Parts: sequence; structure tokens; C-alpha cells
Amino acid sequence: MAAGADRGGERPLNPPPHVYSTTGLDRCTERRGDAEWLAARRRDPATLVLPMAGLRVPVEEGPDGPKARLVPLAGLAPQLSEDGVFLGLLGGRPVFAWSRESEAPGRVATVELRSVGSLLPRRDAGLLAYARALMYWHARHRFCGACGGATRATQGGHVRMCRACGLEVFPRTDPAVIVLVTSGDRCLLGRSARFPPGMYSTLAGFVEPAEGLEDAVRREVTEEVGLELLQVRYRSSQPWPFPRSLMLGFRAEAAGRELRIDRDELEDAAWFTRRELGAAEPPVRLPGADSIARFLIEEWLLEG
Ligand SMILES: [Zn+2]
Repeated sequence: MAAGADRGGERPLNPPPHVYSTTGLDRCTERRGDAEWLAARRRDPATLVLPMAGLRVPVEEGPDGPKARLVPLAGLAPQLSEDGVFLGLLGGRPVFAWSRESEAPGRVATVELRSVGSLLPRRDAGLLAYARALMYWHARHRFCGACGGATRATQGGHVRMCRACGLEVFPRTDPAVIVLVTSGDRCLLGRSARFPPGMYSTLAGFVEPAEGLEDAVRREVTEEVGLELLQVRYRSSQPWPFPRSLMLGFRAEAAGRELRIDRDELEDAAWFTRRELGAAEPPVRLPGADSIARFLIEEWLLEG
């Protein structure tokens, strides 16, 4: 699809709340500590389950395209084991994610979330992203970071507790900044060696310990392309559970245009005009329609 194909209206592609944000689900945090209530929900045939295979998520084809496949517990098992993670209430019905390593419970078909993210209803994309993030966390926190003892899931799967020393650990989310750098009618896009062929995107990097977001933006841009920034302005955020980031989107105006590219970080970086990126056949491939990177670019294009 050409970059300009969706630009007929006033709304940019993937506007906030961005794809993978939770919408339409009551996370019901106050229920996580109610062991009796949770145990009853784990036996309730009407409880809805997202049957996952590792990090792969259940998706089926609906009349309007792919959608999340939610299966009543009665169709899968008489009861849900302790490793089923409570996600919340959807239209008043409890929803759990339940994962098996090689094959989803009930032999339900599963896919990689990013292969369908932008095609799913927003509610479903958010639900599956939430489930994927929690399953990734569980799979990598089976042992205590303090004493090495085995941990077990508690609080509906939102806490893991060490069986030996009692340490509690909570799901982690890593903040990462992502920024569209502009200079007048041009914006800066870079290309990492990890990207698909021809793709250029906004600059991004993880926030370091004891670092503010604006400072992280300035550091990343200076490190990667040698530019100083004038003002740095927050735009919006996007959950990015691949595997556990929260993307914090910014716009920044550069103090100059001369680039000093760090070739360890980027294969290339270049300035592009609105006319170039908005053309029917832009000179580079833009990031995926499910990404906040794409939103930051499309929002800027609409301002021209
Ligand atoms: Zn421990």
C-alpha cells in the first residue's frame, strides 16, 4: 500500500490510543487478591479463555477480518489450572490467558501477534498484547533474582513469589523513547540493520536508570546521528509487548541538519521532505501500520 493511501481524511494512521493499548477491558485489579473469587472463576464453564501456544496468540477469521479467539472454559477443560492468568472482565465475563509451550489448549490455531496487529479490532489487539506481555514475563521469572529459589504465580498471575525467601516480583515494562526529529519541512528517518529491506523509521532507544525521558531523547539522537535538539515535545505512548516495552513517542526540532551517523547503531539515516514521504511511491518503506513510529510520521505529514 502506498504511504499516502490512508491520508485522505484528517486522522493519521494508528491514532491514539494506539494499537496494542487496552480498550474495552476492565482489568479489575481489585479482584486479583480475592483467591476465593478467582478459584470460582477458574471452575466456571462460562469463563472465557485465550488459549496460547507459548507467546503465540489465538486468532480466527471473522466476517470483518481476523479477531481474537475467546473460548468458553467448558470447551477446553473442566477447570483452569493455577497458571491461567486473569486478565479482567470483558462485558462482565472473566477472561484468562492460558498458555502451553508447544500447542495451545484445545488445539486452537495461534499466530504471532505482530503478523495481524493492525488488522485486529482494537479491543482484541489490546487484549492479546496484554496476554502476550504477561506470558513472556512468567516464562522468564521462574526463579528468584535474590536467592535463586523457584517462584510461583499468585494474585491471579500478576505477582510471582519466591517459595524460599518470599520475595515478590511484578511484571516488568521497559520504557523506551521514540522520536520524530524534524527540521522545517524535513524529517529524519534512520535504518537499522535489523529492519526489513528498504525500511526507514524514527529513532528510538531504551531509557537508562535514573534518566528522564527528555534526556533520553536528547542522548539517543546525539548518539545515533550527532544532532542537538531544540525543543522536545511528548506526543503519546504505545504498549509494545515485543517483548516488554512501553514506547513513549516524541517530536523534536533539530538545531541543524548535518548528520554524524553512528554506524554501529544505524546503517543509514537521512532527511526526507513531506513531498517525498507523502508521494504515491515514497523513496523508502515506512514502518508498520501497527507502530507508533508510523503514527508520528503520518501525523507530521498531515500538518504539511
Ligand atoms: Zn528468593
